[in-house]
Amino acid sequence: MQGKIVKGIAGFYYVHVVGAGVYECKAKGIFRKDKIKPLVGDVVEISIIDEDQMTGNVEEILPRKNALIRPAVANIDQALVIFAAQNPDVNYHLLNTFLVRMEYADVPSVICFNKADLITREERCLYEQYFKGTGYKIIFTSAKKEEGIDEMMEILRNRTTTVAGPSGVGKSSLVNLIAPKAQMETGEISEKIKRGRHTTRHAQLIHIEEDTYIFDTPGFSNLAVPDMEKEALESCFPEFLPHIGKCRFTGCAHVSEPDCAVKAALEQELFSVERYEEYKVMYEEIKSRKRY
Ligand code: GDP
Ligand code: ZN
Repeated sequence: MQGKIVKGIAGFYYVHVVGAGVYECKAKGIFRKDKIKPLVGDVVEISIIDEDQMTGNVEEILPRKNALIRPAVANIDQALVIFAAQNPDVNYHLLNTFLVRMEYADVPSVICFNKADLITREERCLYEQYFKGTGYKIIFTSAKKEEGIDEMMEILRNRTTTVAGPSGVGKSSLVNLIAPKAQMETGEISEKIKRGRHTTRHAQLIHIEEDTYIFDTPGFSNLAVPDMEKEALESCFPEFLPHIGKCRFTGCAHVSEPDCAVKAALEQELFSVERYEEYKVMYEEIKSRKRY
């Protein structure tokens, strides 16, 4: 039988099988055969030990599409990063750092501004302008007024999405709106875990419907720019992509070099100066790291 690991804790893997439920599995022989440790998000082949108890054994890990390190999760299709349109104010450096981390890991991002009931239409436009030229899809939701939820579901449908954001932005409120039934399944897992094992909060996949899962990660309050070569940063800003390579100098950092195509595009307001300034800050951060 095939399923998806939705949670891993203390040597147990909780495998969700569509239409059947969650099986508590061990992964006995797997390390010898696949030589990799199962991750949340892995699609696995399981054998049933006891159908009534819903226990089994992970027999095989199917090939992974990708794997993130922090959070440790496999087969992520996209990230949905949630900030509040207001209350608390958007921490742009945090948001941009998150986006860069996802670009670096090759995971596409969608940006969600929740609490949209607190802002005007004009304020929405300001958010859209900030990300001009990036190609990021931006959605506005209100968990309070249950607005924008259908659009959010459309983005999630038939994909596995890591849902992230700082605390206080309404992430739990949104997750509760899209996953009322899934919360019950989560409860089921909690029941199993309670039987003599840890109860610490572990990141887990929540099954929403058919082939739709979200990876609900704990709220974050700071993030570091990934450990990368400074030359790799430019390609983590999608609005730069049409212009890099057109600069006069190969290896142009797009900071103070003459005839820089990225800066020319900035002059033409093809993307926002705020994002460009973020690039410079991150570039300096990476550069200063490399000195030591
Ligand atoms: P989390 O920490 O990101 O999981 O945020 P919560 O879901 O716990 O919500 C934080 C606070 O924001 C709570 O007081 C919610 O009632 C409030 N909140 C959540 N969504 C909305 C929204 O769409 N509009 C408004 N005005 N408040 C919201
Ligand atoms: Zn340049």
